Amino acid sequence: MFPSIRRWRRRRVLEQHALPDALVEQAFSAQWALQRLDGPDRRRLRELATLFLHDRDVYGAGGLEPEPGMAVEVALVGCLPVLNLGLDWYRDVRTLVLYPGDFVARHRYQDEAGIEHDEESVMAGEAWERGPVVLSWANVEASRDADGFNVVLHEFAHKLDMVNGEANGHPPLHRGMDRQRWTRAFFMAYERLCAELDAGGEPWIDPYAAESPAEFFSVLSEAFFELPWLLKAEEATVYEQLALFYRQDPAAGMKGPVGYSSSSPSSSFPDASSVCSSPSS
Ligand SMILES: [Zn+2]
Repeated sequence: MFPSIRRWRRRRVLEQHALPDALVEQAFSAQWALQRLDGPDRRRLRELATLFLHDRDVYGAGGLEPEPGMAVEVALVGCLPVLNLGLDWYRDVRTLVLYPGDFVARHRYQDEAGIEHDEESVMAGEAWERGPVVLSWANVEASRDADGFNVVLHEFAHKLDMVNGEANGHPPLHRGMDRQRWTRAFFMAYERLCAELDAGGEPWIDPYAAESPAEFFSVLSEAFFELPWLLKAEEATVYEQLALFYRQDPAAGMKGPVGYSSSSPSSSFPDASSVCSSPSS
């Protein structure tokens, strides 16, 4: 599409399909991860969410009929990671599916002997490669606090990871970023987490992060936007890499919400079995 046509289309969508003020305000005040944004960033995020929703289908499943406010909240939080990257990063996300609560996903996989198995898992969210983002609305609501759990950020981080293929904790890096530095920062932090868990410790982040490098990237992305001051204190080099990748510095001038206790996050993580997976379609 010619740039001028693209700009014209963008302006027309923003004018004719503006998200209702009340729903936008409701989402900004509900979701902690959005509250640090200043006026200009809120306007830009709102524009991204408007354009995102205009080109996507939102379906309910499991008996849920999505209300407009649900889609607005998911879109605003989902677009936060690409606030300074742009919607092209979500070009594979054409559909959102919302369940009322945890849902059962059935997947087929092949073991090392080549034998196929069917498996059922209880999920809070799912991101499919070249496919939809599936979310449990109850878990979207449970993602509103500053506790490092945010299923929307988690699944959309998987989609960014999948831009260059299967989710593996290595999204495509921007020009000027150093792949070796990224790998070293994440590998060292991953090793520290696994060692702490092996020693019976209680890590500051969701232990589900130890499941795989892909989950590690998504869980640390949740922390980047919800507990940035803590991530920066605990894993400074990972914070630095994520700040370069997301082109945001959420820890700047932020110490956490009033009443925040550094011991509170781990107590509120859901069971690992109910978080998510990122199967290939
Ligand atoms: Zn995941």
